[in-house]
Amino acid sequence: MTWKLTKSELDNENLLLNESLLSLGNGYLGVRGNFEEGYKDTNKSIRGTYINAFHDETEINYGEKLHGFPETQQKILNVIDGQFIHIYLDDELFSMFEGEVINVQRNLHMDAGFAERIVHWRSPKGKEVKIHFKRLISFVRRELFAVDINIEPLSHIQQLKIVSTVNGDVSNFVDKNDPRVASGHAKRLHVTEVRKEKEFSIVKNSTYVTKLEVACVTSSVIESGKYMYESKTADNYVEETYSCVGDETVQFTKYNVYTDTLRHGETVIENAIAIQRQLKGSSFEDLLLEQREYLDNFWSKSDVKIDGDAQLQEGIRFNLFQLLQSVGKDPVSNIAAKGLSGEGYEGHYFWDTEIYMFPVFLMTSPEIAKNLLLHRYSILGSAKERAMEMGHEKGALFPWRTISGPESSSFFPAGTAQYHISADIAYSYIQYYLVTKDEAFLKEYMAEVLFETARLWGDVGHMKNGLFRIDSVTGPDEYTCVVNNNYYTNVMAKHNLLWAAKVYYLLKEEDGNHLKQLAERLELTELEVSKWTEAGEKMYLPYDETYKINAQDDSFLQKARWDLENTPKDKFPLLLNYHPLTLYRYQVCKQADTVLAHFLLEDEQDFETIKRSYDYYEQITTHDSSLSSCVFSIMASKLGYEKKAYDYFNETVRLDLDNTHGNTKDGLHMANMGGTWLAIVYGFAGLRVKEGGLSLTPSLPSEWDSLGFYLQYLGRLLKIHMDRTEVTYLVIEGEALTISHNGKSINLENGKEVKVQ
Ligand code: BGC
Repeated sequence: MTWKLTKSELDNENLLLNESLLSLGNGYLGVRGNFEEGYKDTNKSIRGTYINAFHDETEINYGEKLHGFPETQQKILNVIDGQFIHIYLDDELFSMFEGEVINVQRNLHMDAGFAERIVHWRSPKGKEVKIHFKRLISFVRRELFAVDINIEPLSHIQQLKIVSTVNGDVSNFVDKNDPRVASGHAKRLHVTEVRKEKEFSIVKNSTYVTKLEVACVTSSVIESGKYMYESKTADNYVEETYSCVGDETVQFTKYNVYTDTLRHGETVIENAIAIQRQLKGSSFEDLLLEQREYLDNFWSKSDVKIDGDAQLQEGIRFNLFQLLQSVGKDPVSNIAAKGLSGEGYEGHYFWDTEIYMFPVFLMTSPEIAKNLLLHRYSILGSAKERAMEMGHEKGALFPWRTISGPESSSFFPAGTAQYHISADIAYSYIQYYLVTKDEAFLKEYMAEVLFETARLWGDVGHMKNGLFRIDSVTGPDEYTCVVNNNYYTNVMAKHNLLWAAKVYYLLKEEDGNHLKQLAERLELTELEVSKWTEAGEKMYLPYDETYKINAQDDSFLQKARWDLENTPKDKFPLLLNYHPLTLYRYQVCKQADTVLAHFLLEDEQDFETIKRSYDYYEQITTHDSSLSSCVFSIMASKLGYEKKAYDYFNETVRLDLDNTHGNTKDGLHMANMGGTWLAIVYGFAGLRVKEGGLSLTPSLPSEWDSLGFYLQYLGRLLKIHMDRTEVTYLVIEGEALTISHNGKSINLENGKEVKVQ
């Protein structure tokens, strides 16, 4: 059960939700779990096929536009629709909303990597049929989206007709009742080529502004008795019709290959045809086998086993599977806040990547993690331009939300002002280095990113009364904006500054020539580096003597406290019911802020300060953001709050499966999904990776019998198993390794289990 997500009724109210949950993807291509044949009521579906990073730009219309506000916004596009397949039983069109659905089962197979819909249907005129749809987006052939249909007539049907379309007339989703999704933004693609060439249906589209192109080249295979074939090419689509003898079972497979100019050069059609030719001879079954092999390998290094709770087990596997389906695996793409499962947040990449999802890949599939860093490196140029635009003399200010680099946030208090994203990116580079010790990567990419981000802090902050201060920024908590000395931002900037200096001196010692060239290129002097050290060492970290906690910022604790207890339930999330200024005037947090800083950089404060801060901020945090509960779970584990750790974990693990935030229809909450894994591995197992090495402080929730997971570290693959009495460590791949368990060193040798209490 826990490898398969099953829906066994046609839940009309939750069609949109199920489209997100049953979405498929491979990091490049994604498709929502739509019905191939379409819907009766188009408002009940967001029909979507997405290519990661494939976007257009639209103008941002401001009432009052001030200096430095971004002029355009990027938006992921719903691309050519290769899903359409209509099935006619004589003159009646199969539809889930006409006639009678006698039986339906929908499954998402997380071990095999495909989705299916098995429908037993009776038409309005009483004809019966069993249709078995299977769909797959290949992890092995990233451009491929295949649909396989088995149609078994259960009563006499004279003619069974299949009409398969590739349609270029596509738009993004518009909710007529939601003014935030203006219709001018919906149609961003137009058809530039439609043709049939030999066995291929070909449609090519282009965006209006970015001039990116996407092609879909489709081929089909039918297995049936006698049939007649026709094809039609119209302005926007190619349609193929197969008219079969009605009483026989028909097997129909459609292979859609998607290419785009971001990855496949100018000749997108020729490239797609070449990929189609490589496919020849591979049946749908063959594709399933390849898919299985890929996923076997993935799960053998990434699975998390929870013994004692099937619901949670299903939740964690679902989250890991969706992370894998969403993460970009080439340097032009990253991982969007909603993955490839919907259009919420317009396909943008946020700090969600670095703080919530990157660590999962870093510790289980480092090659994927590296790619996420390379994507950030590829937009370093834009980040430097943005810093200039924002009035800095130098440095890199990474955009709060973007696809290919430019800032796409039009609401600066909770957007551009979140300068911490630059330190978050630096933090992820540092973590990568600690986990891989990849010196070549450090030289080639990491040094430059750390130097340019450190420069930003050097420029934005200032010394006053012997302390380095950072004014007018926003921390992670979006209910408290544009403040002086946000603890999270300052402590992360400190880490960024000190590590930039450390890397500088490390390179100086180990490869002076390389450093010289890099410093020349960046016009970096040792005087500037010494200022980073000074700024880092003198960084002001707000601390309140009355409460003996870290203040979230300079003014936070002076404000009135929001009366959460007496706020009616229907007023949550607060952001949908109160003007931002109202929220800013109170002590109320949308999400973990100081508590998150205490997780990421725990050695900056003593245990008691961290604990008192947790107790304080917990009282005023709404968790209106899905990025919050996981952090409270991790920190509750650290502080020994066993029940809280478990309760917060429960909030995260099935957030989308149970639609607890009510908006999963717009796409899955990817950061929270990463957070689930963090709550298990950094929370219950107490993992930390620091300069001193890898350490764990495990404590198994009392509700579970055991917990098992894998980690990759310094080229080793480790298997960790915790049960009620002991923890078992095993190095599966790689050489011997010393780690710390509950503060004590233990030596692990390849193939030898080590059991400790
Ligand atoms: C959160 C941000 C997050 C964004 C995208 C917002 O609601 O407050 O922290 O980056 O969603 O997931």
